[in-house]
Amino acid sequence: MMTALDSPPLGLVLDDIVRSHRPRTEAGSVPANIPHLQSPPFDRFGIAVATTSGEVFSSGDAGLPFSIQSISKVFTLAMALSADDSGSLWSRVLREPSGTSFNSLVQLEVEHGVPRNPFINSGALVVTDHLMERSPDAAAQVLRFLNGQVGQPGPFIDEIAARSELSSSSRNLALAHFLKEFGNLRRPAQAVVENYVRQCSIMMTCVEVAKAGLFLAQDGRGAQGAVISRSEAKRIGSIMLTCGMYDAAGEFAYRVGLPGKSGVGGGILAIVPGECAICVWSPRLDSKGNSLAGTAALADLSDRTGWSIF
Ligand code: GLU
Repeated sequence: MMTALDSPPLGLVLDDIVRSHRPRTEAGSVPANIPHLQSPPFDRFGIAVATTSGEVFSSGDAGLPFSIQSISKVFTLAMALSADDSGSLWSRVLREPSGTSFNSLVQLEVEHGVPRNPFINSGALVVTDHLMERSPDAAAQVLRFLNGQVGQPGPFIDEIAARSELSSSSRNLALAHFLKEFGNLRRPAQAVVENYVRQCSIMMTCVEVAKAGLFLAQDGRGAQGAVISRSEAKRIGSIMLTCGMYDAAGEFAYRVGLPGKSGVGGGILAIVPGECAICVWSPRLDSKGNSLAGTAALADLSDRTGWSIF
């Protein structure tokens, strides 16, 4: 771990991370099925750290909004657990790495409609369905939660992007219909997918994502008080570590050593328990769907600072 005497200030470290990791070539890819994710220039790169002592450090394009996509799954899980007094969510979704792609239909059918974890698409659809019990506009609930954590003006839903993604969401609709067929979806499949896609289309900056994720680094306490209990915060961290990075959770744990959740918009939220929440964003993805430059930057930052859960 860095100490105050032997380390440069964090702001300077982040500036150097940006210098070292901002992409110089158009390596990697962007998702073909979500047109609006193709627009950010390949060399966008931002990083932000929100600390448990209340400071925020950032560098590069950390103030530009990007599409959080599957990072939203961390927030919806926390919200669903905070209202799940009966523990019924965990009878509908498991907590095992999937070992298959995040939108696999085959696994869902073989396993009788019980998704492997809340961070693959089928699991996230169940979580969204769970949230819709409280109010049918689950995406608006998520937005309210995020605005409560980071203030106004802040996160917003890119409704045009959501509509465009919805028109090419056959696979997510298929997953939702499978869930319904197996009795694991209460609301209509179409309504659940709409909410899910709108929650994925929330736009946030790196600074906002880091601030919004901070409750996971401080025993469940967010900007407006307890979001979830300390043990739930620990458990969400465990699920992030084992399931948060698509089929590359093992590789990410090896290289970075922190719980993380990525989205195909190129963002990654990583948690250093007791210390800080980190968000890095760079739009080009590796073959598993994780930000190429973002993953490399987090590995570098963890090596330079000693931030790791191991
Ligand atoms: N909206 C995307 C989808 O459902 C999210 C994918 C992701 O970020 O993992 O395919």
